[in-house]
Order: sequence, then C-alpha cells, then structure tokens
Amino acid sequence: MHEIPGDARGDRGVDGAVDALAARSRLAFRARPGYGVFGIVQGGVFADLRQDSARALRDIGFDGYAVGGLAVGEGQETMFRILDATVPALPAERPRYLMGVGKPADIVGAVARGIDMFDCVLPTRSGRTAQAFTRRGTINLRNARHADDPAPLDAECACPACANYSRAYLHHLCRCGEILASMLLTWHNLRYYGDLMQGLRAAIASGTLADFVAASTTPRRAVARRRERRTSRPAGQRRKAKGLPRRTEGGCFPRFTRKDSA
Ligand SMILES: [Zn+2]
Repeated sequence: MHEIPGDARGDRGVDGAVDALAARSRLAFRARPGYGVFGIVQGGVFADLRQDSARALRDIGFDGYAVGGLAVGEGQETMFRILDATVPALPAERPRYLMGVGKPADIVGAVARGIDMFDCVLPTRSGRTAQAFTRRGTINLRNARHADDPAPLDAECACPACANYSRAYLHHLCRCGEILASMLLTWHNLRYYGDLMQGLRAAIASGTLADFVAASTTPRRAVARRRERRTSRPAGQRRKAKGLPRRTEGGCFPRFTRKDSA
C-alpha cells in the first residue's frame, strides 16, 4: 500500500495530497444548472488542522463547503468547539453543510454557529424504533407509561399522527410491531424536524435566533421530563385506579383462556 507521509495527526503531508485531490475534483466538475460541488473540510478534532483545511478549500473556490468527520462519537461539546474554529474560516456567502448531523439540539447549536445545511437518518431511523422527537423532549413510545395516555404525541404538532391518534394507540402499535407505528412516527419525526428548521429560519429572519436557541436548551426539556415523571404513574397503577383488568403479558391483544373461548 502507498504510504502517505505525515505525523501522528496525519497533517502536512496529507494536507498537500488532499488539497491536490480537492483541486482536481473542482476542475473535473462540469458546471450545469441545478448542480454544484462542495469542498469537504477535514482535520478531525484539531482546530488548527480544520482551519488549514478550510483555508485551502476556500482558496480553491467551491459552490459550498461541507464540514465532514464530525458526529462520529466525539460528543457535542467537541463538535461545537470545532465548528467555532472552522465556520469563521469559510466564506459567509456560500452554503455551509454539516454532514451527518443530527439531534435537534445539535442542529440548533450548529445553526447558531453558522451552519446552513444538514443530513441525518435520525428522524426516520428513530421513527422505526419507537422514538419520537417532541417539543418536550424525546419519547420512547414502547414505555408502559403511554399505554393508557389519551394525549397526542406532541400537542403543538399538526402532523396526521398527532392530529388523529393518541399516545396509547401509538404505544399499542409499537408493542405489536405494526408497520403503521414506523410510518406514523416517521411521519411525525419528519414534521418535527421540518418545523424545527422552519422555526430556525424564521428566527434568523426576525433577528431572534439567540432567543430561539435559549428556548431550545436542555433545562426546559429537563423540567418537562421531571414534571412528566411526577404526574405519571405506571400503567398498571392507572389501570387499577380506573377499575380496569390487568394488561395481559406478551402483546396488545387479550389472551383468551380455555374458559373464555368456550
Ligand atoms: Zn406530530
């Protein structure tokens, strides 16, 4: 295998090779309507390498600039530190794209640092595993606390899943492994992410992004979660209080005994 010269951080020698590849890619791109080519900033979690990479790509000149190699387990604090160091080195008039991000809090923090574009599997993949993003935090619809809850998934959401179905029904679908659960939760999660981005764009347009970011921070969600824990009892206790029979084990459908079926 060809060995690339450079020190333990993979700098200098690699920089030259990467810059040459980026320049060749730029030259090879055929400009046509509706298409553009982005340069991808690399450099791991090293601010100086990120800045070197951003400057080299800016000198080549791309239609947009991506920040790659983040959201791979380094943690939000490190990711934000690298964005703080990298984004100012990119041209402000070109779109800036953070690859593979992310959770709602990651997106809000990245937009506050100057990122314009994202891509992520989280809303759809979470929808397939009973996870729902709401304005009051993330919910696992498989949890028993939702078994008898007539409330919508997110009272402030206008998606069909929230408008037409209760948490109890969504819980039932998740526990039964119904494909409709994946469809409805994916539908909701995509709507949630769409609303989040719309809210961010509106906040930028009205000059209130700092307020939006402050309102999206963890304490509000933590308070909501504590409130939910205080007010919600386990499903078994709620069923008992309502005089309902115990839920049968192993699924959502009543298990018929020999006596029942006779
Ligand atoms: Zn919804």
